[in-house]
Amino acid sequence: MSEKKLPTVAYFSMEYGLHSDFKMYAGGLGILAGDYIKGAKDIEAPLVAIGIKWKQGYTDQRIDGNGKPYDTYHNYVYDFLEDTGVKVTVKVRNLDVICKVWKTEQFGNAPLYLLDTDIPENSDTWITGQLYGWFGEERIAQEIVLGIGGVKAMRALQIPIDVYHFNEGHAALAATELIREKMSSRKTFEEAWNETREEVVFTTHTPIKEGNETHPIDKLEYMSAFNGLTRDQMERIGGNPFNMTIAGLRLSRISNGVAELHADTSNKMWKEVAGRSEIIGITNAIHTPTWVDERITKAYKENGDIWAVHNEVKGELIDFIKERTGIELNKDNLLIGFSRRAAPYKRSDLIFSKPEVIEPYLKSGKIQIVFSGKAHPLDDVGKKIVSNLVDMMKKYPKSVVFLENYDMTIGAQLTRGSDIWLNNPRRPLEASGTSGMKAAMNGVLNCSVLDGWWPEACIDGENGWQIGDGFETTDFEVLDRHDSDALYDVLLNKVVPTYYENNAKWVQMMRKSIETTSEFFATKRMLDEYYNKMYIKA
Ligand SMILES: *Cc1c(COP(=O)(O)O)cnc(C)c1O
Repeated sequence: MSEKKLPTVAYFSMEYGLHSDFKMYAGGLGILAGDYIKGAKDIEAPLVAIGIKWKQGYTDQRIDGNGKPYDTYHNYVYDFLEDTGVKVTVKVRNLDVICKVWKTEQFGNAPLYLLDTDIPENSDTWITGQLYGWFGEERIAQEIVLGIGGVKAMRALQIPIDVYHFNEGHAALAATELIREKMSSRKTFEEAWNETREEVVFTTHTPIKEGNETHPIDKLEYMSAFNGLTRDQMERIGGNPFNMTIAGLRLSRISNGVAELHADTSNKMWKEVAGRSEIIGITNAIHTPTWVDERITKAYKENGDIWAVHNEVKGELIDFIKERTGIELNKDNLLIGFSRRAAPYKRSDLIFSKPEVIEPYLKSGKIQIVFSGKAHPLDDVGKKIVSNLVDMMKKYPKSVVFLENYDMTIGAQLTRGSDIWLNNPRRPLEASGTSGMKAAMNGVLNCSVLDGWWPEACIDGENGWQIGDGFETTDFEVLDRHDSDALYDVLLNKVVPTYYENNAKWVQMMRKSIETTSEFFATKRMLDEYYNKMYIKA
């Protein structure tokens, strides 16, 4: 990083994966944000993180007696937060909403500020109730609190900010406040927008067009999200319907995707958008101390018996699974881990697509699979995917397990103790896939489609395996058939024989996996890139 004083960055994120007990995160976006501030602390980067104090956070999703997922919530006690004494006011549906500002300094130079509407002064205390809960209006209210409230909190706390970083489009309304401030000191809208663009950077995460959030412009107006701007000005920023990603792209001086392939995909996806910033690639990374087992690192560094250590960790995973489900897997047999949000493009059931091929392995227990993952509470398709996996567990009770209520504890256990980390999304729809990085650094071999981060790391047959050859088509029937053939080929002709017949090669691959990923996919490299390519102006 350069020697001169680093700019102070306000990092806005709807979710933060800090700790398993606080479901202030839903998935990869939040895990990244949590690792981001932990990594910023480690390198003493001047960062101020802004988010929401979720009363109930994200769902605790369990499986009922019929094998169907259901959602439960509980109120959190955030014993690690302190009251800053600061309150800021935003307008929602033309009414004042007071946001209380909480703080934690456990991340040192990267303090985290959380906004909270659950206070007696407000008539609607539930705006900060559930992460991604409910429908459009509530989401807009949450985004007003995060974005507009977040900027106001920085002013009230008198923290000078050089760069505003929107982690995903949720924070885009922050820019309406940055523009409004400048217009109130006699700048024109054009001048204010241009100056705001110079201080905003944006990260996009979603390579699926429908996954990018939009709101009817009338609804934004009704919710008071214009924040003093006109309808015409809002439309020029985000269109109508107002697209939060397009807004982010037009409000920023530079944007990024979360892997090189994802940046290419995003540039193609948004190429028609006039007046947008360029999207560069900054590949995600993980906070190594959070996710990598020290025993593995030690065995790797000291040339110890990494296979023995792996089996110890695998044994702990098998015990963990037994405690949670009563199912006892065989520690001498291959164990595949797979945990993903339950979304169709992730294809968690691809491995079952030809039962006649896979069934003998599952029946004999030569292949064991542990699944986990949640569906969004309002996503019936996702819930069906979860039920299907639970059905598979009933069908192959010795070798298929589904762990309910996927969280950071399960994520850490699975990416340490599995033998193989399987990932088979429809390319190029996986933005990054940080769970694969956790696995790789723990010596758990990735077996993955060339999507997200994997094309940057994969040396096929040396540090893991690639499934297929990067084939892409929008004809999903063709794609799924192609990829399931490729999956069976690599699994049955490469992974299984290596595991059972060539332990020396397996161990060599484990070492290679750790060697080739541990530095590049750790937060320090990622943060250096954000500072050098996004935050520090050329
Ligand atoms: C690491 C992790 C993720 C992100 O992993 P992906 O590879 O993006 O699916 C999501 N949820 C939890 C609980 C995690 O630990």
